[in-house]
Amino acid sequence: MSDVLIIGGGVSGLMTAWHLVQTGASVSLIDRRQCAQESSWAGGGIISPLYPWTYSDPVTVLSDQAIADYRPLVDTLRADTGIDPEYHTPGIFHVNVDDPGHAHAWARRHGKELEQLDQTDFRALVPLVREARTPLYMPGLGSLRTPRLGKALRQWAMSSPYVRLLEEVTVRRIRIDNDRATGVETDNAVLDARQVVVCSGAWSGELLADIGVQLSVYPVKGEMLLFKAAPGRLQHVVLSEGFYAIPRQDGHILFGSTFEHAGYDKTPTASTRSMLYRQALHLMPGLADCPVVHHWAGLRPGSPNSIPFIGAVPEVRHLWVNSGHFGNGVVLAPGASRLLVEQMTGQTCCVDPAPYQVRSVAAAH
Ligand SMILES: Cc1cc2nc3c(=O)[nH]c(=O)nc-3n(C[C@H](O)[C@H](O)[C@H](O)COP(=O)(O)OP(=O)(O)OC[C@H]3O[C@@H](n4cnc5c(N)ncnc54)[C@H](O)[C@@H]3O)c2cc1C
Repeated sequence: MSDVLIIGGGVSGLMTAWHLVQTGASVSLIDRRQCAQESSWAGGGIISPLYPWTYSDPVTVLSDQAIADYRPLVDTLRADTGIDPEYHTPGIFHVNVDDPGHAHAWARRHGKELEQLDQTDFRALVPLVREARTPLYMPGLGSLRTPRLGKALRQWAMSSPYVRLLEEVTVRRIRIDNDRATGVETDNAVLDARQVVVCSGAWSGELLADIGVQLSVYPVKGEMLLFKAAPGRLQHVVLSEGFYAIPRQDGHILFGSTFEHAGYDKTPTASTRSMLYRQALHLMPGLADCPVVHHWAGLRPGSPNSIPFIGAVPEVRHLWVNSGHFGNGVVLAPGASRLLVEQMTGQTCCVDPAPYQVRSVAAAH
């Protein structure tokens, strides 16, 4: 029997496993697909909340912790697995910002670097982007290549003697005995564990509803386009008017995204593809000569005010949640997972866990 059984092998589940193993725990990690193929594959990989001044303090505080953890985590993963998540931090631009005063006030309050550039400097740094209002620059931030992060974490999990990886296995039900989680039922087995953690992304609410626990986590569809461009045409992440462009080292440029409440349907649509294409060329007219080589959609785990749930499920002992990170799940993953494991093991928490507690639950079963 494992010490901990984690349901869901996206970045939340994989990084929770990572932190648990550092404490000496043994982990069973279950995913109904191969690990990191859902939102954690589809996501753009910006390692900052989008328009960070629009989020509440709990998101800022947790992302600060996570960003501080990212560099050492990525370096260790690359050394251990040989897979490079391509984490680069040349800075992020926000342009055409309607409320730069709000952004500057937030930056002053949180001690963030936020520089207002003039047009000449901006054009020199980001020639692919057309002239834009109020270019704001946040140095030290950047992005990583999400599929590679997932691949590196999966490789780590496969090679760790403390992780039992069960892929293509669907959890049908969390087992509860005397108000205590004791394991899970899959299609053809019962798996016991001392503790159970729900890291099932947009599907977390469904699993918990089945045992009478209400968790407000729901799918928010996002579509993405991938352009093939020559390396170096775009060096920085650029956000404008709700959309963003993310460069990859090999020249690919991701452009996204949408925020659609369409249930669990993640079929990309032709109309969204045309809309994203128009928006991409509006921001970067030079992309007209670059082919679109991929178009996909993923399901973000949405939550009220985009504040994730990280902590114990009240009234069900030994049951924990790390989910609901919405559009910030990649950036938050190291901090959120660390915070969960600190609570599970009774360590001092890196940030105050109170804002992330699971509250609105009905009596279990
Ligand atoms: C288009 C798009 C762009 C994004 N861009 C960014 C960004 O730039 N930066 C950022 O920080 N975040 C971004 N995000 C958000 C980020 O991708 C998610 O918040 C994050 O990946 C959530 O990770 P997760 O591990 O919680 O969920 P997931 O990655 O969805 O993983 C959940 C896992 O649980 C498994 N599962 C579910 N139910 C079961 C079951 N019953 N049994 C077994 N396994 C189960 C699934 O198969 C899945 O692998 C983006 C998301 C999208 C869709």
